[in-house]
Amino acid sequence: MTINSKEIPKPVDIFFKRQAILCDHCQNNLLERLQGMIISIRKKDVSPFDESIRPIYKNIHFSCKGECERKLLKADSDNGLAEAGWYEISDYTNPAIYIRRLMHLIEEINNGKYENDCIEKIQLFFVAMFPYVAREMTDYEKEKIEIYMSI
Ligand SMILES: [Zn+2]
Repeated sequence: MTINSKEIPKPVDIFFKRQAILCDHCQNNLLERLQGMIISIRKKDVSPFDESIRPIYKNIHFSCKGECERKLLKADSDNGLAEAGWYEISDYTNPAIYIRRLMHLIEEINNGKYENDCIEKIQLFFVAMFPYVAREMTDYEKEKIEIYMSI
């Protein structure tokens, strides 16, 4: 399934500055065209299904599909790492998928499946995708934020 350009959801302005998601290889902002992937990386010799090993995931990549992905995974492979799964970034504009995967990730983090270094990148990702699943704030909500920010 590919995304129709007319169907690209418009993000709302929740934050002062919109967070970008940069490809780990070419540094392009993947949110400009909502194309790209989020990839989990594990050690080559560890099965992602082995429940006895913690942490399983060593890194997270943001990447364009194709050339950048191949180059990142080749560099990982040279360092004893391998892909453990990936998702389309555009999946996360779907509110039902967004919340399901966020809940699943919290559970996995709680179970120690992610290396600590991954957590910041996961947080950045969900913050960056949030404006796509959020709604406009009411005037009352905006006022509350102003009060909150001034404290
Ligand atoms: Zn790229």
